[in-house]
Amino acid sequence: MEQNIKQISNDLLVWYDENARVLPWRYFGKTKVDPYKVWISEIMLQQTSVKMVIPYFKEFLKRWPTVTKLSEADLSEVLSFWSGLGYYSRARNLLKCAVLIESYYNGKFPENEKELLKLPGIGVYTSAAILSIAFNKCAVVVDGNIKRLISRIFSLKTPIKSNYKEIWSLTQIITPDKRFGDFAQSMMDLGSKICTPTSPKCKICPISNNCLAKINNMENLLPIKLKKTLKPIRNGNSYIIKNKNKILLYKRPNKGLLAGLVSIPSGEWDNYDDARLKFINNFKKHKFSQIKHEFTHFSLKMEIYCIDYNIPHNAAIKIPSGFNWYSFQEVKNLAMPSLMQKIFKTTSFYKIPIQ
Ligand code: SF4
Repeated sequence: MEQNIKQISNDLLVWYDENARVLPWRYFGKTKVDPYKVWISEIMLQQTSVKMVIPYFKEFLKRWPTVTKLSEADLSEVLSFWSGLGYYSRARNLLKCAVLIESYYNGKFPENEKELLKLPGIGVYTSAAILSIAFNKCAVVVDGNIKRLISRIFSLKTPIKSNYKEIWSLTQIITPDKRFGDFAQSMMDLGSKICTPTSPKCKICPISNNCLAKINNMENLLPIKLKKTLKPIRNGNSYIIKNKNKILLYKRPNKGLLAGLVSIPSGEWDNYDDARLKFINNFKKHKFSQIKHEFTHFSLKMEIYCIDYNIPHNAAIKIPSGFNWYSFQEVKNLAMPSLMQKIFKTTSFYKIPIQ
């Protein structure tokens, strides 16, 4: 049986009109789409699930309802808001990007790929998503759901990770000549609701007649998976330096992992030799716990040491500038990165009263 390419996009759009997910950044019918909302949602959805993004998105829009408001925001406030979503470079780029849009583009998003790609944090995917969804311009949008969907529709035998060009070309082939935003979102929604990673629901799929994976009974075998490679393990040390009911925190270096975030002092795990931490070597300390934490590209084993700044030996050591004492309550309200929160939570094992 031959595939009817045109029918695929027609069927997807008909299905979308009846079954689109209602999401707070979406617009239906004749309502004018706000590119700001599309942009914020697309940045949040990188590396984070729709379910998790929804409450963050709503709260973000309450605090910074327009690109102008966001361009006036304080970085530390945006970073603190971002805690829990992770990948903080996204928050930094959001702010840089808002400032540029406000100052160079008069608060309006550029409507072409060349200009969009010049903006911080906007790559090929995000620019295509903004162009098609916010401006209904012809652009080829290829996210994770769409990669899986295209691999199945066309029964591709190359694993997704090494097949971007072919997937992009085939997505372009089935992109219709109208309703570009709706079409991109119809594929995202089909991938999320019907053509799911495991057990795709082919019986209720609107394009099953033109899906080669289904026709060849390959839907559960595609896309071909690459064998999982084990992530490297890194080891690090962290230091809870306690002074009565306060602990010592500092701002991490402005580049690299967890850049610029207020954190518990730690080292050896981040490929960064921070000379500011050398004074910690002079403390009397003891090891009291260990945690594991997963980053996308490595697994971390972090030893946790406790240092009591009240004992005479330790109290004689000068605390360098840039380090500050925080009460436990202040630490809890700080919205530190999840790794640091995990370390902080071990303080209860040490019977440090959390007030
Ligand atoms: S028929 Fe099955 S495998 Fe093909 S797109 Fe639909 S759900 Fe996915």
